Amino acid sequence: MGTLAATEAALVEGIDAAQMLANVEQWCAINTGTRNIPGLASQAALLADAFAELPGEVRLVPAAPVEAIAADGRAVQIEHGAHLVLSVRPHAPRRYLLTGHMDTVYPADHPFQTLTWLDDETLGGPGTADMKGGIAVILAALKAFEAASLVSPYVGYDVLINSDEETGSLASAPLIAELARAKAAALTYEPSALPDGTLAGARGGSGNYSAIVTGRSAHAGRNPQDGRNAVVAAADLALGLKALSGDGLAINPARIDGGSANNVVPDHAVLRFNIRPRGEEDATRFAAAIGPLLREVELAHEVSIHLHGGISRPPKPLTPEAETLFELVRKCGAALGQSIRWQNSGGVCDGNNIAALGVPVVDTMGVRGGAIHSPQEYMIVPSLAERAALSALVLHRLSGGE
Ligand SMILES: [Zn+2]
Repeated sequence: MGTLAATEAALVEGIDAAQMLANVEQWCAINTGTRNIPGLASQAALLADAFAELPGEVRLVPAAPVEAIAADGRAVQIEHGAHLVLSVRPHAPRRYLLTGHMDTVYPADHPFQTLTWLDDETLGGPGTADMKGGIAVILAALKAFEAASLVSPYVGYDVLINSDEETGSLASAPLIAELARAKAAALTYEPSALPDGTLAGARGGSGNYSAIVTGRSAHAGRNPQDGRNAVVAAADLALGLKALSGDGLAINPARIDGGSANNVVPDHAVLRFNIRPRGEEDATRFAAAIGPLLREVELAHEVSIHLHGGISRPPKPLTPEAETLFELVRKCGAALGQSIRWQNSGGVCDGNNIAALGVPVVDTMGVRGGAIHSPQEYMIVPSLAERAALSALVLHRLSGGE
């Protein structure tokens, strides 16, 4: 158990829990499904106003282009909202990265749109935990950090609030990479892994793929022997992928689009699949096996297959540098009377991408809550101030405040 120094106690006392709750209520009233561009624009404007209270410069960065494969196999461009970046003391020699996302998994036409108090301390609603609550934690923690008179000109940070995290951050990946460069540490504000505040430690990776299969159409009755059935080839590929799955590498063939009328041998199909490599070696194993598998299916069915996609979230092992950062978070928690633990997670987030750049990151610094990605999503309201205090103290101690 540690204790708080006097300056640290002052840092934590200034946190305004009521203001944090008001922020969350205002932000969650706006639908920000990843595809809701007008909703994201309204949210970004509110966030820009809120973060303008901190020193530094707020800017909205347009999304990077993202290509996806439509059901008919054509490549299409997907539109995304802008990302918010706040840069504070950009020339300071020691800098951090704090990240959150403004998008949610609930589209504009989803029934789950409003906030409901489930009891005195529990607020249900879209994005309460994942992660508008987390954005409120970032803002309050930084206000507290800045208010402490000890803030040194040698310490600065960037805040990134992206708009496409829930679909894999493809439109913000270049920005994440740019902002993570040369940072001493990163904090990401996904909700805690468990409602008791447990953090996510090591994470596996994730990749999404579309295999576009092209065969040859023919009449199903007159000359089926001239056809090359793309749907059957896609199904065979799905079985081959399932067979590749094993310890450390889960592969989920998720969907097959293709074909047309019942009397036509289908000449096209698109197979979507997701892979979850636990570690770098599992990702390498997949990379080595996928080419030969595709060739085998191509040969067996006399079709051609084009593979689109890749690993968008590299595996995130717990490096010694990351363990040091977790240990600091644990000690800060202890000084605040919070017991902080961590456990491995099967989920992925922007922390994967930040860790892949060699920056130590704790990526579940957001609120305590649960049932995320479901209409039962909720936030434990007292955790707003609790987690803001934790982050403020972590930033303070990272900056040599102790
Ligand atoms: Zn999230």
